[in-house]
Amino acid sequence: MKPVPKQGILDMPAYVGGRDAVKGVAEPYKMSANENPLGASAHACAALEKPFDPSIYPDGHATALRMGLAELNGLNADNIVCGNGSDEILQLLAQAYLGPGDEVLHTEHAFLIYKLASRATGAQPIAVPETALTANVDTLLAAVTPATRMVFLANPNNPTGTMLAQDDIVRLHAGLGGDTILVLDGAYAEYCDPQTYPAGFDLVERHDNVVTTRTFSKAYGLAALRLGWGYCPPDIAAVLNRLRGPFNINQPALAAGLAALEDQAHIDTSRAHNTQWREWLAQQLGGIGFSVRSSFANFILVEFENGEQAAAAEAFLCARGVIPRGLTAYGLPHALRLSIGTEAANRAALSALTDFVNQTDAAEGRG
Ligand SMILES: *Cc1c(COP(=O)(O)O)cnc(C)c1O
Repeated sequence: MKPVPKQGILDMPAYVGGRDAVKGVAEPYKMSANENPLGASAHACAALEKPFDPSIYPDGHATALRMGLAELNGLNADNIVCGNGSDEILQLLAQAYLGPGDEVLHTEHAFLIYKLASRATGAQPIAVPETALTANVDTLLAAVTPATRMVFLANPNNPTGTMLAQDDIVRLHAGLGGDTILVLDGAYAEYCDPQTYPAGFDLVERHDNVVTTRTFSKAYGLAALRLGWGYCPPDIAAVLNRLRGPFNINQPALAAGLAALEDQAHIDTSRAHNTQWREWLAQQLGGIGFSVRSSFANFILVEFENGEQAAAAEAFLCARGVIPRGLTAYGLPHALRLSIGTEAANRAALSALTDFVNQTDAAEGRG
């Protein structure tokens, strides 16, 4: 006899994050994890420098942070639940509402956590085909069955960078049963145009089955602190608050998160840097023969002829001190995801990819 975990857990591969080191390269450009190349706000860094008493528990309700989030976004603080990364909110939703026999829809090349969090509960995740690497509402709705309990949609999606508009999201929601939760993951929301981004907060407020999640790991540059949040209908907020650890957000994260919110200029600067260099990289890569799809996030997808080429390019880039994210686990073995970096990183990536293309062309007798 030995202990046996719940059904589903041993079917999951452990999550493997983006590489962060290359043998023989002292300080590589890490373009594999969609971190903010400008770092965190100076306000957040100053908050982290402030002494605090580590013997005292943090505020288990994250009150100041939730009030700050509510004020900034025009939301009801009671319906905000903070998480140890937005991953925790996704996992809590799965734990609370899914189990064996339930089905969960996610798009074909979706963020891996959706599949893992679902499997951990014994539920069955279902990968729904995309159209041109974009979620397709009709295909998603066609995959709904009486067993469907949750639909995860990252908007924009990681790793494809593609996005659905508000009308599509409304139509997707309208096609789901009232007992199916639509989870809108806005991890890259801050990189989108604030005037047109379909945040989904209005849907959360009008319905009992829509949740939006956000993170401080990407544009806010606080990935190390593990801080995210969900905006939920009241009943779902009450469920997540029962299920979560009572002190799931640590004191440095509470302090830095609140300070970061107060520095929206840093978000604006980060968005502008990202847009400028994302368009530059896409254009430059277009000039050397890649067709880079438009991305709404802080990364681009670089597609190669096949998986071997992509693997060769990944090794070539790493040797040049530029670390991309290989996407085999996302069902895109022929592509690499490249996070938008500092100017130096972006130029190094272009230079390495240019040399890779020239070397490949020479080897194949082209050019
Ligand atoms: C990075 C990412 C997250 C969240 O990360 P946390 O660090 O756990 O907040 C969530 N969803 C998507 C699509 C992401 O890319």
